[in-house]
Amino acid sequence: MAVKEVIRMGHPVLRKVAETVKPEEIQTKEFKQLLQDMLDTMKEQKGIGIAAPQIAVSKQVALIEILSQSERYPEAEESELLVIINPVLTTLDETTQGFWEGCLSVPFLRGFVERPRKIKVDFLDINGNAQSLEIEGFLATVFQHELDHLFGKLYVDRITDTTKLAYQEEYIQFHENNDVTE
Ligand code: ZN
Repeated sequence: MAVKEVIRMGHPVLRKVAETVKPEEIQTKEFKQLLQDMLDTMKEQKGIGIAAPQIAVSKQVALIEILSQSERYPEAEESELLVIINPVLTTLDETTQGFWEGCLSVPFLRGFVERPRKIKVDFLDINGNAQSLEIEGFLATVFQHELDHLFGKLYVDRITDTTKLAYQEEYIQFHENNDVTE
């Protein structure tokens, strides 16, 4: 168990394009330790995803795990634990959908972000095997949010209407049940 510090907006590592992972690196002890640290940190923070740059490791790897009992995102459907290495994202449907996003690196805030509703992601999995997934709905937003972290972007960069950037408490009080999300 190694919970790492999650770095926050303003830390320069969050603004760098992360390095791609070499395929031979994936089976190493060090890399497995990185994945374990990311998982431990994500669980401790009750996140549904985490990217290596968020623990100050500038490598192209992200984890996504949506559990049905997620406190932060009760609308989410369940997914298995996905390890995403060196992802390449393709938009399959430009039609956007909006969700209120949050981020472990931008604590206490929520912001409404519109993103393409359907994407394809090509990546290497935990065994270094090439995978391709077509993803839509809320999970497509989660993927785009996490993958943004690997390219130096934060969800706040994607907010087009800054009147929909709120503190968590005000979000719950004024917005949670009032905004159409799709
Ligand atoms: Zn984030």
